Amino acid sequence: MALATDIPRTGPAITPPRASLAEFWLPFTPNRDFKKAPKLVARAEGMYYYDPQGRPIIDGVSGLFASAAGHGRAEIAEAVGQQLRELDFTASFYRSHPLAFTAARAISELTPDGLDRIFFVNSGSEAVDTAMKIVLAYHRARGEGQRTVFISRERAYHGVNFGGVSLSGLVNNRRAFGGVATPAPLLRHTWRAESVFSHGQPDTGADLADDLLRLIAVHGAENIAAVFVEPIAGSTGVLVPPRGYLERLRAICDAHGLLLVFDEVITGFGRTGRAFAAQSFKVRPDLITMAKAITNGAQPMGAVAVDRRIHDQIVHSAPEESIEFFHGYTWSAHPAACAACVAALDIYARENLFARGAELSAYFQQRVFSLADLPAVTDIRAYGLFAGIELAPAGKPGERGYRVQKELFDAGLHLKTTGDAAILAPALIASPAHIDEIIDVLRRVLVCHSA
Ligand code: PLP
Repeated sequence: MALATDIPRTGPAITPPRASLAEFWLPFTPNRDFKKAPKLVARAEGMYYYDPQGRPIIDGVSGLFASAAGHGRAEIAEAVGQQLRELDFTASFYRSHPLAFTAARAISELTPDGLDRIFFVNSGSEAVDTAMKIVLAYHRARGEGQRTVFISRERAYHGVNFGGVSLSGLVNNRRAFGGVATPAPLLRHTWRAESVFSHGQPDTGADLADDLLRLIAVHGAENIAAVFVEPIAGSTGVLVPPRGYLERLRAICDAHGLLLVFDEVITGFGRTGRAFAAQSFKVRPDLITMAKAITNGAQPMGAVAVDRRIHDQIVHSAPEESIEFFHGYTWSAHPAACAACVAALDIYARENLFARGAELSAYFQQRVFSLADLPAVTDIRAYGLFAGIELAPAGKPGERGYRVQKELFDAGLHLKTTGDAAILAPALIASPAHIDEIIDVLRRVLVCHSA
């Protein structure tokens, strides 16, 4: 197995072309502040990014929950290059290419039994909007087209397209753009004061699933299409579901004919110790959305895994030669993305990375929880190789988180902050020494922050 145990101190300096900072409008970024002191990375290998001067920055969040097998995997680069030389592009409308079927088969071997019909898209946001349409098409095909209400959860993040925004429990997402799509009724989120600093799944809180009964009473079960949840809410601070919570949601959905969708854009491909969180938590949803680590981050790609029974209902209720699902993207199953996907899944299997991540998670969590003594740390939540470290707010909500993220980068650690929480999701190839380095940088920076 290619273990990234060596910890490089420097890398070769790269002279970037003289860049103008004017034209590129960075997403999700305070651009004026960024331009005062731009933070650039020029190269990546294993667990490290390198800035243009060759300074290593350890990657604590797999790029953005994507590079599960570490950066710069030659096998993926070669597979993509070879595919582009052989067949650079065909859309998958009316025709497709062999590797698309190989990729779908490889994904279906990882998903829970029966969730083996794979619809390809290009991002997590597209996966969410596509899953919503599949749900609507399924109910319509069964003669229950009135089921159009989607239920989501407070503090949920389901991407930035309008479907996902309508499901969003993130205040900023909804306030800025929520007016266009019908906002989904929201279940209460599962974070509770009693579960502060609890390890793994909190023992109490399964009863929060009963909030779904309240929404069923308000909207009528016969009008509700599906419930969308991230098994672990990632972008809002790693909210681990209480023991029994997801099981209870599943049971209520079954009792009322609602579909259950797991958004596994972050938790998919080993983050929780199994291929999908559905398997870690032993709850089988009807659809799973995925993206990010599907190609190890090397190509844009997403997918929806669909229960065979749902797929068949939609496909078989349409006349033989008609398009049964009027949806798709020019780049759905792009050859280069399929090549990256097949190569990435092959690395995950060959290097047994999901099991390796599971093995490392005890050490990772022990080291993360060692930060609990810092005055600025008010909560820690963790599951698998995934952790959220909540910081006491200083100034406006999110102000400290933003500052900390910049300070950490300068100190040699890349991670994501969301609000005032720092999020860790190291690659599954990380060694204990890498975890130590990540925690050491965090301690060095956070110790300067007060309660
Ligand atoms: N769903 C979840 C749970 C996510 O965490 C994200 C992104 O982080 C998305 C959807 C959107 O994915 P993308 O940024 O690829 O559109």
